[in-house]
Amino acid sequence: MKKIQMVDLKSQYEKIKDEIDAAMQEVIDQAAFINGPHVRLFADDLKAYLNCKYVIPCGNGTDGLQVAMMALDFKPGDEVIVPAFTYIAAVEVIALLGLKPVFVDVDAATFQIDTSKIESKITDKTVAIVPVHLFGQCSEMEAILKMAQNHGLKVIEDAAQSIGSVYRFSDGTLAQSGTMGDIGVTSFFPSKNLGCFGDGGAMFTNDHDLAEKMRMISTHGQKKKYHHHSIGVNSRLDTVQAALLRVKLRYLNQYQNARNKVAEAYDKAFEANSHISIPKRILQSTHVFHQYTIKLKDVNREEFSKHLASFGIPTMIYYPVPTHLQLAYQNYGYREGDFPISEKLCKEVISLPMHTEMESEQLDLIIDSINSYFI
Ligand SMILES: *Cc1c(COP(=O)(O)O)cnc(C)c1O
Repeated sequence: MKKIQMVDLKSQYEKIKDEIDAAMQEVIDQAAFINGPHVRLFADDLKAYLNCKYVIPCGNGTDGLQVAMMALDFKPGDEVIVPAFTYIAAVEVIALLGLKPVFVDVDAATFQIDTSKIESKITDKTVAIVPVHLFGQCSEMEAILKMAQNHGLKVIEDAAQSIGSVYRFSDGTLAQSGTMGDIGVTSFFPSKNLGCFGDGGAMFTNDHDLAEKMRMISTHGQKKKYHHHSIGVNSRLDTVQAALLRVKLRYLNQYQNARNKVAEAYDKAFEANSHISIPKRILQSTHVFHQYTIKLKDVNREEFSKHLASFGIPTMIYYPVPTHLQLAYQNYGYREGDFPISEKLCKEVISLPMHTEMESEQLDLIIDSINSYFI
């Protein structure tokens, strides 16, 4: 049996090696490394997949969030609402731009920002809400968009973990994650659901002017070469990455199905286990299982993880510290106890191996090893 990993990128590559190698070789043969033809072709392919009007590739997901907030002209002191239980990228960018992160607790069952707790955090300084579609399913976008509209706020979706997940509005309309707010951002970090062989990211929007602005900001603020209209950054998707992403995008739906199969097997194995809470599915959203994250009840997490490690099974804690208690962000004055659900989740969650290449004997070993801990 192959070694069990959190994600198995090597096996995934081996299955489509010929196509990937050919795509990368083409870029090398053309020596079109920066802004070569594949960058635009990939943006077009992704646009079609997402059914949105503009896709602007960039250097990584964090850059994408930064460029998005720069394009929306937020000013120092403006407040941006973000979940307290999430990956740090959005918070970091907010702080870097001199904006103020305003944290909101999450829903304990779905891990998504708790929409019932947003309204009370809105002040006359609030400019935006950043829902993070954590672990691969969409936050409650209908409620978030309605609140944003009522208060004149922008919505920037962090879709780094959720590319391909689809949200259903109450009128039956379907939308891809990242295409519902003013701007959506994703990451092509290798372990993401659509991962490249290094860093990469993209911004999505349906607004022509915002698209132009994000394109400009991500190219040193220039509209025309050597003519700089605004302060920008240098954030590009390498052509080699774009070329291989074009190949992998064709497999994305298949990859999603493979992840869902693993998730279904985990669900079935643990739903009756009183020590394990399986991840709750949101009715309005499909799940692409970037992570399969369970909550442990009355279990020593460290011992549980060591037990699995003794069978060669890795686990990860996403995330061990809530954003408001991170050392770097203490100046915003938050304290322990401010967001009890996020704080509790950080102590209870553990993510199991989840990827597109899981073999049934690997899955059996994981499930058996977990069950054996409770005997
Ligand atoms: C990975 C990730 C990012 C950042 O993406 P990078 O490409 O690594 O900069 C942002 N937000 C979330 C939720 C992520 O998981």
